[in-house]
Amino acid sequence: MRLVIVTDLDGTLLDAATRALGPAEAVVGRVVRAGVPLVLSSSKTRAEIEALQRQLGLAQPFIAENGGAIVAPPGSFADGRPAPAGADGRFVIELGRPYREVVAIVREAAEAEGVRVVGFSDMTVGDLAADSGLSPLEAQLAKLREYDEPFRLIDADTAARRRFLKALRRRGLQAVAGGRYDHAMGDTDKGRAVEVLRGLYRDRIGPVVLAGLGDAMNDLPMLRAVDHPVIVRGPSDDSTVRLLRQVPDARVTQARGPAGWAEAVTAMLEAWERNAVRVPPRFWPGLA
Ligand SMILES: [Mg+2]
Repeated sequence: MRLVIVTDLDGTLLDAATRALGPAEAVVGRVVRAGVPLVLSSSKTRAEIEALQRQLGLAQPFIAENGGAIVAPPGSFADGRPAPAGADGRFVIELGRPYREVVAIVREAAEAEGVRVVGFSDMTVGDLAADSGLSPLEAQLAKLREYDEPFRLIDADTAARRRFLKALRRRGLQAVAGGRYDHAMGDTDKGRAVEVLRGLYRDRIGPVVLAGLGDAMNDLPMLRAVDHPVIVRGPSDDSTVRLLRQVPDARVTQARGPAGWAEAVTAMLEAWERNAVRVPPRFWPGLA
């Protein structure tokens, strides 16, 4: 059986504040050399993830915009699945709802509930750069959205927030909390995308063992969908504790952010190389 690692980006592979890879960078190289597919899975756009893949020397399928789409290089999966799309020859499976529909619903729900919402669609590239700390180029890539609208409520108390999220769900959208922003999207999530991905790999190379790493509540469906969930400890323990309550069999890293990612993936690779044939993967030792 082959091992496939699925990983969140912000707060997991990348530092939540600086977005640096730190000690994770060398371990990414080790994963690549071991021939283990490393699937980036993020609320980031396809354009942002492709830029990061180039930086890391990765050419793997990835999950964009919180499960909005699976994008894969040509030849990644069995013929005819997924259907080819796009002029660049990449394969795309769309699971999300078109962005303009999502944005229209977010605006309509905000008006109906009398709350003020600022989404990426309301921000210029300059606004977004200032608000998020992204460079202007990165902000431009972050605005190339196809499925998922990141947003923030302005001057809303807990009750108003709850009311608004409920209003989104009534209108058929999912709303999840990410690192910096809340996210609205169609009826998909990272977990659904992981299930589809598992089927694609199965058809191509046989059953795979999936390990998944994440740090926030938008990773919950993904952590539930993988065989080996790993919670990467964040700057505060709040989200770690909340996630662990929902995925009690997850391993939790000792170190935080990319250092925790490096620690867990190193242990995972070593255990895999030692035990892949003899020991059922359920019994890996080595992770904290
Ligand atoms: Mg994250």
